[in-house]
Amino acid sequence: MKDVILTINAGSSSVKFSVFEIAEGQLTQLALGLIDGIGAKATFTAKKSSGEKTEFVLDQSHHAVDHKIALTAVLDWIEKEESGTNVVGVGHRVVHGGPVYSEPLLIDAENIRILQTFEPLAPLHEPYNLAGIEAAMEAFPKAAQVACFDTAFHRQHPYLADTFALPRKYYDEGVRRYGFHGLSYEYIHRILRHEEPVLARGKVIVAHLGNGASLCAINAGKSVASTMGFTALDGLPMGTRCGQLDPGVVLYLMAEKKMSAAEITDLLYKNSGLKGMSGISNDMRELEASSEQSAKDAIAYFVRRARREIGGLCAMLGGLDCIVLTGGIGENAVNVRQAILQDMEWIGIHVDAEANARRERIISEKGSPVVALVLKTDEERMIAAHTSEMLGLKEPLVPAVS
Ligand code: AMP
Repeated sequence: MKDVILTINAGSSSVKFSVFEIAEGQLTQLALGLIDGIGAKATFTAKKSSGEKTEFVLDQSHHAVDHKIALTAVLDWIEKEESGTNVVGVGHRVVHGGPVYSEPLLIDAENIRILQTFEPLAPLHEPYNLAGIEAAMEAFPKAAQVACFDTAFHRQHPYLADTFALPRKYYDEGVRRYGFHGLSYEYIHRILRHEEPVLARGKVIVAHLGNGASLCAINAGKSVASTMGFTALDGLPMGTRCGQLDPGVVLYLMAEKKMSAAEITDLLYKNSGLKGMSGISNDMRELEASSEQSAKDAIAYFVRRARREIGGLCAMLGGLDCIVLTGGIGENAVNVRQAILQDMEWIGIHVDAEANARRERIISEKGSPVVALVLKTDEERMIAAHTSEMLGLKEPLVPAVS
């Protein structure tokens, strides 16, 4: 029997999963899949690393597909397509670990109740993450269930880094800057530690630029500041989220426009950012291909905010040794990368336009005081690594902590 780890990323209308084999101290990805359309007519797609694909409609003629049905479909698929495997651990992406959790957590009935108390902090994600955990506990009762939090990497911040300028009681109640994308930052920093150990010990900014986007300042391996705040709305503009916003705008929308909390939530989470500004798309590729001025403005605003935040995080770090770009935009959008990093010599970034255009790993000039790197993030592998570590297995593929 092969021991495998399953990773689950359960959202409101989809469940993403990956299967990793643990062998000889390494994690090897065997498959990844998606159940889309939860709550309605769902489709199941899975692809093995051999390239073999499975696709079908999850037909529940009389019931909408829920997380439980989705996880049962994953179990059936693994039993059929990956026979001879034994799911020893299920690692879950959980967006919010509240003020408490700075490490992954082995789930039991007691602490799942604690996680439920964080639902108001991330109402669009946390309830579905927890529904995924409960469904996986039923489908894989013998496997260890591990919650891996997007907030955990930032939990060692001092009070001043996490508070807002509100009366202290709000901080004590949990109204504070949590920061997100922690699994991505942790993965990138482990890779950096492995590939560039000297840089990893220094002052680093990681720019996670994808459909969700944020920046994190890391000093000697520890997160010291992030652009995301109480929710995943703050900081950079994103595919559909607004990024930094004067709270007075929300008051205006409520008082003058009579918008409800639900309408404002919809505006700020789903109809702002690149999509809202351009009126065209949340997808950077489509905006780059468009000749519309609104598309150009949306990209220019994204670049402008990223540059502004890099400056701010440099000040928090007191200097900079390395900047890493990652996420779908950071890894691929050569022109956006160039626009963000150019004319930054004043903080030591000398971008090499040709290396960037050639999509090299290091995109700063030789001798640049700050090394600029492009690294591919892999949050699923980070979750699988955390889960295997929780099981006491030797830490695989994500390089061992030096
Ligand atoms: P992620 O959420 O990390 O998957 O990133 C999604 C974002 O990356 C979307 O805005 C995509 O348009 C963008 N992206 C992916 N590939 C490219 C590319 N080749 N050029 C520009 N943007 C890209």
